[in-house]
Amino acid sequence: MTIGSAGPRSRALFRRAERVLVGGVDSPVRSFTAVGGTPVFFAGGRGAYLDDVDGRRYLDLVGSWGANLLGNAPRAVVEAVRRTALRGLSFGAPSPLEHELAERIRSAIPEMERLRFVSSGTEATMSAVRLARGFTGRPKVVKFAGGYHGHSDGLLASAGSGPATASLPDSAGVPVGIVRDTLVVPYNDLDALTACFERRSEEIAAVLVEPVAGNMGVVPPAPGFLRGLGRVARRYGALVLADEVITGFRLRRGAAISSLGGRADLVTLGKVIGGGLPIGAYGGRREILEHLAPLGDVYQAGTLSGHPLAMAAGAAMLDELRAARYLRLERTSQELAHRLESMATEEGATPFRIQRVGSMLGLFFTDGPVTDEASARRVDRGRYARFFHAALRGGVALPPSPLETTFVSMAITARDINRAVPAFRRAFRASRKGSA
Ligand SMILES: *Cc1c(COP(=O)(O)O)cnc(C)c1O
Repeated sequence: MTIGSAGPRSRALFRRAERVLVGGVDSPVRSFTAVGGTPVFFAGGRGAYLDDVDGRRYLDLVGSWGANLLGNAPRAVVEAVRRTALRGLSFGAPSPLEHELAERIRSAIPEMERLRFVSSGTEATMSAVRLARGFTGRPKVVKFAGGYHGHSDGLLASAGSGPATASLPDSAGVPVGIVRDTLVVPYNDLDALTACFERRSEEIAAVLVEPVAGNMGVVPPAPGFLRGLGRVARRYGALVLADEVITGFRLRRGAAISSLGGRADLVTLGKVIGGGLPIGAYGGRREILEHLAPLGDVYQAGTLSGHPLAMAAGAAMLDELRAARYLRLERTSQELAHRLESMATEEGATPFRIQRVGSMLGLFFTDGPVTDEASARRVDRGRYARFFHAALRGGVALPPSPLETTFVSMAITARDINRAVPAFRRAFRASRKGSA
């Protein structure tokens, strides 16, 4: 196993971090447990590139897990943060920056008639579920297997091997009693969803869905899936909660679900809308949102919610997201996907397939299409690990897990892709070795 891709400084820093931080990291996806080896420590980044503490440079295809749509340290965002910081870091009281960002979001996502800011995507989704329950007076929610909606107790559930109604905690420390109210059905499976509603129609408050699943690689919704899901939910009086923490403002200037044939009652956002700072937001129809305190009886609060720096960064980010940039991003992403597919074939590194929706790429070492969690589980993890490490040694930073999304940023150009070709070729060759 070739796992020595981190430089000596990274390795030393990791040993030191491990002595005080659990596993040396603050989020398990940053550890290299899925690919082996030790994580690279970064010193900085600019545009399409990241610089590590050993002086090596990488093409950044992680983009802070999708947050950095404009690339690293975009000038307009950094300037907005600097200007805002000089006037005070936090007030715990209203500032105009909050409604200024909210107005920008609502003009792009009209379904969000009212919204509220929080500090992470986890908080947004957890709070939106509470609101859906408070609004409908119903206890249960439906999610799809392989969908990730943050780490709140009730949403860390996956389906057992039994019927869709038997969900199991995905983590120790989550009581079975809590995930009993989370029903899990396979992604892209309207029949299973319908069956679930037929059994539990009066109890289901909401269906949670990633309009494009981005946490089991990239899995697009099957034609008609989002529309059908909405029909089923509404027939039984349940809300549709579109978790757009990844897709919001990434696939277009707004929410993805409406351009994919669906309609949301509640939308959650995060990642891109914070311009690289911690943020989350949830919103929807006014009559639903007005169930939140202080107007209603669903409680949700946050000391640092609507944080001035995140608001300023988010507004500066959204102001940069013009239509022409999305068009260019689409071309770059398509170019990267085509090049990767042909290199994989030329280097004999097959089976390999890319599932791409806009700037979200799922790189799968598997032969069949990935349509749900069961097919995502069939990817060859060993081949991805070898591909990942060889790419890293060649100066390309990919997500350190075969089931995460590869993100293209607006800072990446065709020239950057050209420059990465030799590294990708070596990575595809490395992926072959020792594979069955
Ligand atoms: C990242 C993510 C979350 C959680 O957001 P955090 O800011 O990490 O808490 C929720 N939903 C989806 C779809 C995500 O990708």
